[in-house]
Amino acid sequence: MGMLTYTGIYFLLLLPSVFCWGKQGHFAICKIAQGFLSKDALTAVKALLPEYADGDLAAVCSWADEVRFHMRWSSPLHYVDTPDFRCNYKYCRDCHDSVGRKDRCVTGAIHNYTEQLLLGVHDLNSKMNNNLTEALMFLSHFVGDVHQPLHVGFLGDEGGNTITVRWYRRKTNLHHVWDTMMIESSLKTFYNSDLSSLIQAIQSNITGVWLTDSLSWSNCTADHVVCPDPYASESIELACKFAYRNATPGTTLGDEYFLSRLPVAEKRLAQAGVRLAATLNRIFTSNPSDLTRLNMHNGGHRSSNNIEIV
Ligand SMILES: [Zn+2]
Repeated sequence: MGMLTYTGIYFLLLLPSVFCWGKQGHFAICKIAQGFLSKDALTAVKALLPEYADGDLAAVCSWADEVRFHMRWSSPLHYVDTPDFRCNYKYCRDCHDSVGRKDRCVTGAIHNYTEQLLLGVHDLNSKMNNNLTEALMFLSHFVGDVHQPLHVGFLGDEGGNTITVRWYRRKTNLHHVWDTMMIESSLKTFYNSDLSSLIQAIQSNITGVWLTDSLSWSNCTADHVVCPDPYASESIELACKFAYRNATPGTTLGDEYFLSRLPVAEKRLAQAGVRLAATLNRIFTSNPSDLTRLNMHNGGHRSSNNIEIV
């Protein structure tokens, strides 16, 4: 186990990180989420976190990327591919891995880990032996990934991974621009390279200029516990409208692209954080009547899914 872990990390260092919101994006999302957790959820999350996280969900938010090389089965769970140029997403059509196994995509994974946590927390089936710590770390990561527009990108270009572009002077690919480079440039340009300043700016937007919007971000249709499908639909629409637009192979992306797309990326980090918090708040509620929500796909009877923003 130890050797495998080190091998996984070793490979991660050798390969270009072409996969998910970079470490900083995931860290920001989980930091924002933790700030909106209810008392019950915060207690439950802290109890599930590994000791090295020291009570900080953000510390384990990129764990799923670190293990994807030795837990190879988890690799298709970070994204979902959609048909080229269709600009829409459908669970039944799109949520499968490259050999067609159903539910093996980011939205399927979000449903699965939410269900594992719900069953584990309420101990409805003591025979289930799921690792709830891993379920929490996977869920927190995948709610982030589904908000990165190019994690719900086209099959033909692997969510922008095969679209070679320049980000200013650096040669890279479009997927990596959205995972990492846009956030890095934003940190350098606007936040004095200080991630906590970026997080604070997003937090104050959530409770400030975005408040009218942000109050509804956490709503799930039909009062479900979790609803990754609309988030995936938003992502592919944003991918078509902003990420792919004017970013054909060979393009140099500079100020014009950066300044017009950055607000989109920052809002996606905010939405991911708010929605992760809302999902965890719904999972870890101490109100037993909310157990009706276990029937996730048919809806429950929860009256309000809004997170509290104080
Ligand atoms: Zn990922």
